[in-house]
Amino acid sequence: MVVKVSINGYGTIGKRIADAILKQDDMEIIGVAKKTPDFNAVIAFKSNIPIYTIPDNVKEFEKAGISVTGTIEDMIKNSDIIIDATPKKVGATYKPLYEKYGKKAIFQGGEKHSLVEVSFNALSNYNSALGKNFVRVVSCNTTALCRIIQTIRNRFEIKKVRAVIMRRGADPHEIKTGPIEALVPNPVTLPSHHGPDVNTVIPDIDITTTAVITPTTRMHLHVLSLSMQERVTRDDILNALVEAPRIIVFDAKLGFSSTASIIEWARDIGRLRYDIYEVAVFGDSITVQNDEVWLMYAVHQEAIVVPENIDAIRAMFELERDGFKSIEKTDKSLGILSRWPL
Ligand code: NAD
Repeated sequence: MVVKVSINGYGTIGKRIADAILKQDDMEIIGVAKKTPDFNAVIAFKSNIPIYTIPDNVKEFEKAGISVTGTIEDMIKNSDIIIDATPKKVGATYKPLYEKYGKKAIFQGGEKHSLVEVSFNALSNYNSALGKNFVRVVSCNTTALCRIIQTIRNRFEIKKVRAVIMRRGADPHEIKTGPIEALVPNPVTLPSHHGPDVNTVIPDIDITTTAVITPTTRMHLHVLSLSMQERVTRDDILNALVEAPRIIVFDAKLGFSSTASIIEWARDIGRLRYDIYEVAVFGDSITVQNDEVWLMYAVHQEAIVVPENIDAIRAMFELERDGFKSIEKTDKSLGILSRWPL
């Protein structure tokens, strides 16, 4: 079966997922929904991706030289599944339309857990999404937390997790958000929403998080502390992370000492839009003191959830029942690494 996928909300996340679907052999992109004929619409059109819009805007698209295939409702009817990547809380308003036509849908981290049957992270709970109709791929920060925590708990018993999340203030293309000169506790009270969000995927982990918004646009950075139930060594943790998919342990001796060098690496190896799908662990930060493990890692917010959406489609249509095989297939298609240098 080749699954017919459409994208509602062709922005930061939506356009990356569309490009990723073009690289799969078990799914195809049947269209994207756009409201305005901006440069993103032109790029999609020139890549032969069918464009759908609202009825009132068809003429505007045609004036810009973009042929429109139909309305957003037509797009939903023509799809097996809709990837909803509209802004936070807008996705929920579309759910009745997806239900009306009996279609499956994947929502993103800006929507509530209560909207869906399963909140998803491929490494943590692939099986829970098998055959489901409504799934939410958790946010960029929660995805990174789940990957790291699940990888370590697959080998060792964790007593509790505490994390400080330094969040990017805006995505690089955004001009209306900040801060430009401030560090903003987000929120000033504890916990931030990330810990409870991890619990929607991994219910039985004791986790508390706190977050700070920072004047940077390219990546988040997490400082993670895990109290372990059993004694572990630094090598135990290092090996677990090195051997896991979608996590790269970077070495400071090669110059990986900030988010800037991680981004530069992605540009140098030729990643489209410098997309980093992997959690980028600063290997030298991994420290074990008595029963405590500490580490720091960076998260490219625009890209990390892209492979998770591909795996979620596979699980929902049961194209692959084994999560690790789906991860392997997705990673091969997108050039996702588990170590570097190889
Ligand atoms: P975005 O603003 O970059 O893109 C949203 C797109 O949806 C835009 O193209 C916009 O024009 C379009 N849109 C707006 N209203 C619409 C409507 N009513 N119908 C159809 N399209 C509409 O947003 P984004 O950053 O891609 O975020 C999308 C989702 O992904 C959110 O839930 C967000 O929380 C989540 N997410 C974002 C990031 C990130 O860092 N950007 C990371 C992980 C998850």
